[in-house]
Amino acid sequence: MNFNSLQREEMRQLFLTQDKNLLERMFTAAYDVKKQYVGTKVYFRGIIEFSNICQKNCFYCGIRKDNKAVKRYLMPLEEILEAAAWADEQNYGSVVLQSGERTDEEFISYVENALRKIKELSCERLGITLSLGEQTKETYERWFKAGAHRYLLRIETSNAELYRTLHPEDHSFPERLRALANLKETGYQVGTGVMIGLPGQTTDDLINDILFFKEADVAMLGMGPYLPHHDTPLKKRTANFDAEKQLDLALRMIALCRLYLKDVNIASTTALQALKHNGREIGLQAGANIIMPVITAVKYREDYLLYDNKPCLDENASVCRTCLEGRIKSIGEMVGYGEWGDSPHFLKK
Ligand code: SAH
Ligand code: SF4
Repeated sequence: MNFNSLQREEMRQLFLTQDKNLLERMFTAAYDVKKQYVGTKVYFRGIIEFSNICQKNCFYCGIRKDNKAVKRYLMPLEEILEAAAWADEQNYGSVVLQSGERTDEEFISYVENALRKIKELSCERLGITLSLGEQTKETYERWFKAGAHRYLLRIETSNAELYRTLHPEDHSFPERLRALANLKETGYQVGTGVMIGLPGQTTDDLINDILFFKEADVAMLGMGPYLPHHDTPLKKRTANFDAEKQLDLALRMIALCRLYLKDVNIASTTALQALKHNGREIGLQAGANIIMPVITAVKYREDYLLYDNKPCLDENASVCRTCLEGRIKSIGEMVGYGEWGDSPHFLKK
């Protein structure tokens, strides 16, 4: 099999095979492609989950609007800035601001102001990624002007029909596509991604996701295994959840994306770590090159649970940093401190 120019049929085989030798060759090939195209430096994006207030009701998500068991919060500006300043001191290079989705003016200007302040306090050193859902083009432009330069908006699945079963009526697949196009037009490095192992998702859906990423010409991928949350409608439709299988599938997906897309940034997400303590390191070995350490203050972490069993709820950012650095060294990689680590795919343009 020529791992460097995979066809649909071969991807299907690689998703389904139980042949250990073939799988090992796939992971080795993916790691070689990673070395060649993006290198083995891991870039950190410290993620600040600054609010769990959300106006949406995605069926899979623990902080969906209708989950009344969640204590809602919006971090005061000073605390956001404190977290960003810490990331800057640690030479993290970049931060991610993530929250539930809100489209009111109060929120938009709150974020705009936070962006300006983060740029200011870090003397422009920190790169800023946003992960704040679907917004109007005008909002995307305002935040871009205020200093954000990357945006993560997952398509969740490229299968429009499956997308419909994961969201209430007020969600629209074409809207999501339009938002991705608007982000790109605005000038962001755009990242998208899917949940892997969703109820009703087929191997062909995952292959189509990979082809979709190529077609959409994205710079970054943030994908993770789907993990049930006990207070959600999708949990009820999740039969026989098997953590080991879910991890295996997610790793194959990362490797295949690396093999097919080559020079994009791929995140090894916290959701992988929720399935296995060293899940993120294994993700790096499968082809990912970005890690998003959670730097949200510990007091908020229990209230920002998108899925069950989220790891490190009581470990502050400093503990995480030491622990992570050791883990990354243990697999023979190093951290790209003080660099933005932008996607070579984007920079090539
Ligand atoms: N509100 C923003 C950002 C926060 S949610 C948005 O929706 O884009 C970020 C991502 O978390 C979502 O895109 C989704 O893919 C993921 N997510 C939510 N619930 C999840 C679950 N139960 N398992 C795995 N990932 C989940
Ligand atoms: Fe809100 Fe994002 Fe969760 Fe959907 S996935 S309910 S938009 S936080």
